[in-house]
Amino acid sequence: MTTLTQISTSIPGVACRTASDDLWFSDYRLDRVHAAGLCHGCPLAIPCRTYAYDTRQAWGVWGGHDFTVGETHCGTERGHQIHARNGETPCEPCRAAHAELVDGRRRARLAEEHAKGGTVRGYGIHLSLGEQACVRCRAARARESAECRARRREAEEPVQALPIAS
Ligand code: SF4
Ligand SMILES: [Zn+2]
Ligand SMILES: [Zn+2]
Repeated sequence: MTTLTQISTSIPGVACRTASDDLWFSDYRLDRVHAAGLCHGCPLAIPCRTYAYDTRQAWGVWGGHDFTVGETHCGTERGHQIHARNGETPCEPCRAAHAELVDGRRRARLAEEHAKGGTVRGYGIHLSLGEQACVRCRAARARESAECRARRREAEEPVQALPIAS
């Protein structure tokens, strides 16, 4: 099997093969920022970055991305946003962090709906959280459905003809 390293030595434009490798794995953040800049325009940037994610690299710059622990922000919402900005599919820890944040916001909105005694909106939030709606939200939805049916019946009832004055 041909490895990424073998490919990188055989095609032009791969900066880390020509510049000092020290920059990509330097202990100094500014060196790594410089290396990340040199990755731009590298024909291997995407497979290089994908390889680093797949093999959970925890050190150095790969595909214009600094994977040094503490720099990727993976496992946080910030990491999720960084993936999105780079047009990547977020890694599993970032997806979990994002889902937790979204659920947290939904729970906060649900608490507001419960403070109103349970609402149709609350009913929808329960469903988006993947759970059964509570009794109060279910009751609010049943009330709205009944009102809606009554309004429809009213609209369908024939208008009574007014008696003609003689
Ligand atoms: S993208 Fe990968 S292969 Fe290309 S220069 Fe950067 S580290 Fe090297
Ligand atoms: Zn991530
Ligand atoms: Zn509820």
